[in-house]
Amino acid sequence: TEACLTAIDGADALNSVVHKTPEKALEMADAADARLKSGDAPALCGIPLGIKDLFCTRHVDSQAGSRILQGFRPEYESTVTRQLWDSGAVMLGKLNMDEFAMGSSNETSTYGNAVNPWKVDDRKLTPGGSSGGSSAAVAADLCLAATGTDTGGSIRQPAAFTGTVGLKPTYGRVSRWGIVAFASSLDQAGPMTKSVRDAAILLQAMAGHDPLDSTSADIPVPDFEAALTGDIKGKTIGLPREYRMEGMSDEIDRLWAEGRKMLEDAGARIVDVSLPHTKYALPAYYVIAPAEASSNLARYDGVRFGHRAKLDQGDGITEMYEKTRAEGFGDEVKRRVMVGTYVLSAGFYDAYYNRARKVRALIKRDFDEVFAQGVDAILTPATPTSAFGLGEMADSDPVAMYLNDVFTVTVNLAGLPGIAVPTGLDSKGLPLGLQLIGRPFEEGDLLNTAAELE
Ligand code: GLN
Repeated sequence: TEACLTAIDGADALNSVVHKTPEKALEMADAADARLKSGDAPALCGIPLGIKDLFCTRHVDSQAGSRILQGFRPEYESTVTRQLWDSGAVMLGKLNMDEFAMGSSNETSTYGNAVNPWKVDDRKLTPGGSSGGSSAAVAADLCLAATGTDTGGSIRQPAAFTGTVGLKPTYGRVSRWGIVAFASSLDQAGPMTKSVRDAAILLQAMAGHDPLDSTSADIPVPDFEAALTGDIKGKTIGLPREYRMEGMSDEIDRLWAEGRKMLEDAGARIVDVSLPHTKYALPAYYVIAPAEASSNLARYDGVRFGHRAKLDQGDGITEMYEKTRAEGFGDEVKRRVMVGTYVLSAGFYDAYYNRARKVRALIKRDFDEVFAQGVDAILTPATPTSAFGLGEMADSDPVAMYLNDVFTVTVNLAGLPGIAVPTGLDSKGLPLGLQLIGRPFEEGDLLNTAAELE
């Protein structure tokens, strides 16, 4: 813990830890020492972690990267973080992220962007988003692991951009209670770690049924570490032809082929599969996610949480809502709220929202059919490129940023588990990741296959 706190203090340039909690960390580390001495050490005893700012942590700033939650210190602890502390883990602080987890580069954060510890010729690169503070912190050894959340790729893309491992569990595997909601039918928390084994250990502590989250699955949590047998002989891995996108770089294509070979050499059988509705995933996601966000973000009204605008004489409650939301939300959040309310409005609901829900069902069915053919996992690239430069995409059309999620959003729409594993470097020396997509609630099997790609 002390080594991590020192590293954090020396890494302000990364802008990764946005609320430092050193006193709390040392107190928790002392408690962990005492438990170790008494011979009753739980699985994560004394392991220092960074926590994405989206998780509510009791009496510690929990701002979701937004100005509108400035000064918000919850009275409660999210289920995930409570379970981590129950397992003996130590909290180092809260980590930077895109505002309300909307973004792919950490540039929509009210704290300013986090910075990738990897660089090319001193050019500053994004650590990815929205869990960019988490990926940067893990990659720069500021913590042993971190929590992330993934609505459309926000664990897997930043992991791929920083050479770390990021696991999005099956929807329902990990409780969403106490995590600031973005798009509730897509959001899922998961571990961001240095290795697949660490991901298994962390997921163990994070997972489980929670009566406080009605979408949490009441099914047993298997021993994920025990699933890492190192044996994938006889497994069937599918390569979806629709993921071979037009304009995909040769480097990504080569990496994909290397991953295929690694799994083949380990005894897996590789088959070509088809997920025909893939091309509709991004448009469907960018209707459904903003729709849910516009509804979830209605609660930030200047009354109950965080920031309230200064009012002028004569202003009523409507002006308070309007001024608070106008200055509390950043541009990307406003864009999503506008798109979301539009697609949910009476005249357009069927044309956009209902249509997107139907597309979502078709995407899910594509995966069901592939798994029904006996495929155990699906191998794809995690991102279309390696980490891009800060400012490079944020200044262009927002849709260019959305294209980053092309390989990841399908997994959230279908509620499946997906993991990004660092598999190689590109010609600039930057990390590249591959993604494995698994059957629902078979994270153990997925982790075991993913370990072959490390
Ligand atoms: N980049 C996607 C978005 O902006 C995904 C974000 C996420 O997974 N939280 O919506």
